[in-house]
Amino acid sequence: MFKRNRILAIKPVLEAIVGPENVRTDEAEILMYSYDAGMARARPEAVINFTDASQVAPTVKALYAAGIPFLPRLAGTNLSGGTVPLKGGAILNLARLKKIHQIDTAAHVALVEPGLVNLDLQKALEPFGLFYAPDPASQKVSTIGGNIGENAGGPLCLKYGVTANNVEKLEVVTPEGEVKIWSHRDPGPDLMSLIIGSEGTLGIVTRAWLKLRPIPPHIKTAAVAFTSLDAAMKAVTRIIKEGIVPRALEAMDKVSLDASLEGKANPFPDGTAAALIVELDGSDAGAVKKELETVERICAAESCAVFRVASDEAERDLLWQARKGAYPAMARLAPDVLVEDGVVPRPRLPEALRETREILSKYKLTAGLLFHAGDGNLHPNILFDRRDLQEVKRVKKAGYEILKACIKLGGTISGEHGIGVEKRVAMNWLYGPGELAFFRSIKNAFDPKDLANPDKILPVAADKPSETSGLAERASLSPEARTIIDELRLRSMRGAPTAVTCLGTRLKPETIAEGAARLDLRQLSGAAVIDADNLTARAEAGLPMEEFLKQLKDAGFHLDLPETGGSVGGAIASACPGLREILLGLEIARSDGSLLDLGGRTVKNVAGYDAVRLFCGSMGAYGVILAATFSISAGPRRGREHAGLPAPVTFKPDSYHTRLKNALDPENLLNPWIYRNK
Ligand SMILES: Cc1cc2nc3c(=O)[nH]c(=O)nc-3n(C[C@H](O)[C@H](O)[C@H](O)COP(=O)(O)OP(=O)(O)OC[C@H]3O[C@@H](n4cnc5c(N)ncnc54)[C@H](O)[C@@H]3O)c2cc1C
Repeated sequence: MFKRNRILAIKPVLEAIVGPENVRTDEAEILMYSYDAGMARARPEAVINFTDASQVAPTVKALYAAGIPFLPRLAGTNLSGGTVPLKGGAILNLARLKKIHQIDTAAHVALVEPGLVNLDLQKALEPFGLFYAPDPASQKVSTIGGNIGENAGGPLCLKYGVTANNVEKLEVVTPEGEVKIWSHRDPGPDLMSLIIGSEGTLGIVTRAWLKLRPIPPHIKTAAVAFTSLDAAMKAVTRIIKEGIVPRALEAMDKVSLDASLEGKANPFPDGTAAALIVELDGSDAGAVKKELETVERICAAESCAVFRVASDEAERDLLWQARKGAYPAMARLAPDVLVEDGVVPRPRLPEALRETREILSKYKLTAGLLFHAGDGNLHPNILFDRRDLQEVKRVKKAGYEILKACIKLGGTISGEHGIGVEKRVAMNWLYGPGELAFFRSIKNAFDPKDLANPDKILPVAADKPSETSGLAERASLSPEARTIIDELRLRSMRGAPTAVTCLGTRLKPETIAEGAARLDLRQLSGAAVIDADNLTARAEAGLPMEEFLKQLKDAGFHLDLPETGGSVGGAIASACPGLREILLGLEIARSDGSLLDLGGRTVKNVAGYDAVRLFCGSMGAYGVILAATFSISAGPRRGREHAGLPAPVTFKPDSYHTRLKNALDPENLLNPWIYRNK
């Protein structure tokens, strides 16, 4: 189907880089790389194996120059068709790049290659008393590069964050073959975070500096049986609301339990309809014990049938078996399993589960429900046989209806498995045309010829938008926000530059240049909207941080941030430390007054590029932040140590910062002095 000649034409160049034995075009290799753990299939024209990370950049440069599509591939365990080469071209197989270059026990950082298997890293870290938090259930085979490509999560991510929260710095080969090193600590918009979860569409990670943590000395694991799934979910909401953050809070329904415990010692009584695995950790044994007692009390109040605490490592393994063995157990029940990955705000889990069950029953399908309950991330594992075409149709329909239900409940279409090709169409249901065009402009800025893993993540013409397209309802915009939008529209029509100003904590009047007229955001200071059950708060950009913290405190909550001063929008635009860990959503006005509704109210969301973090450090030059949604914590501030505010640094835009500026604000209307030499 594809023109084989295009690879043959540059084969000598590729062979000179990686060696003739590593440019494979034989049928066996082509077949082997034409599928992954998802349902899509497509043949590559060549498979290129790398034996040294330095070979990646010249290879990509040669492919880009020749106009040949390419995609990075590791273990191929992604569940969204991310490594299926939809437009042919070359598979870049990085699986042999698996060195651990350094484990820095003082700085708690490991420098590794992308092909390193997640569990192999954990084993290497154990003797140093350290661990790397992201622990996908696939960790025995999935790799650090693939985990970064998908922004993978796992049970421990409830407390320690997903992959994006555990990467310090990346070496990236851009689609044009340039080598870049980006960290979230760099001044300016966060390019590193844009790469994480971009599924190989914006660049290829060749080295990663990963954040390590000391293994906590005290860990307690409990398995809790309930006679109804609803009761289990109520217990989850109450545990989190109590201010307890377990290191894992996982849930399973009866179908999953029966499958994974078949033939094994079953720790749960007859009549168990759902089970939770609750794991707590810490450095203070007394505090962990106290939290465990609170969890037990909450579960008892929700009429749990059994609350069993592991007394030793063997018993802990037994309790985890039910959760960790669930996917392989499902795979034994049917030839194929479709794993959905929707997310809803945690308090909406019971509704999401009810709707999921109704949808499954409507389509006469069986599924085991597994979920990262603490994150509101559902994994219905739908059983089917791909040889039965009617059943495949029903499975797809049911999967899409489940995603639509998650969107309707204020959630998103993927928490950790990515969009790939299989959820591309669902991006149309989650986002409006403005957000999709914005994502497309990011892709174009990085990959003008559209060769890096093309046709992934963003809908193509065949993925027709639905009529009720887009989550982005604007009802929440205040009259003041609407005034600002109108003013931006007017200035855009006149080509008049704007200085985005607020409390003046960081942007001093003397900095304002290029004849820019001020746009004062102080008027955006309505009261914060606190969702006590979901532990989120939305604040307008002009609200002083001090006032925001006070409003939270008065309601019994806090924001885990250092005292920053300034306004909410100012703290985000200047990348206040710690903010990227708790920022969930942003409402942005672009220079032409068009709106973007990015992220949301869920703690996990890998649908589209991580534009929320991109705006951290954007200094008003990419768009005007109107409002933000944060994850908040229950109870009083625990006095967590923060490094405090860093000294101001001079920002020299990277060429990719400038490309994005050109894409997002082509006339350089917002804070124009920052990119004056663009
Ligand atoms: C049984 C099972 C359980 C799973 N459990 C979980 C889970 O608990 N949590 C979870 O998050 N996921 C889970 N997954 C999904 C999957 O394992 C993850 O998405 C994983 O991160 C993929 O890693 P991989 O090495 O297989 O990458 P691949 O599938 O090879 O690649 C994944 C994506 O990353 C891109 N990519 C690969 N290498 C690079 C690179 N160097 N630079 C940039 N992009 C790159 C690829 O192009 C592709 O788009 C599970 C899958 C299975 C089959």
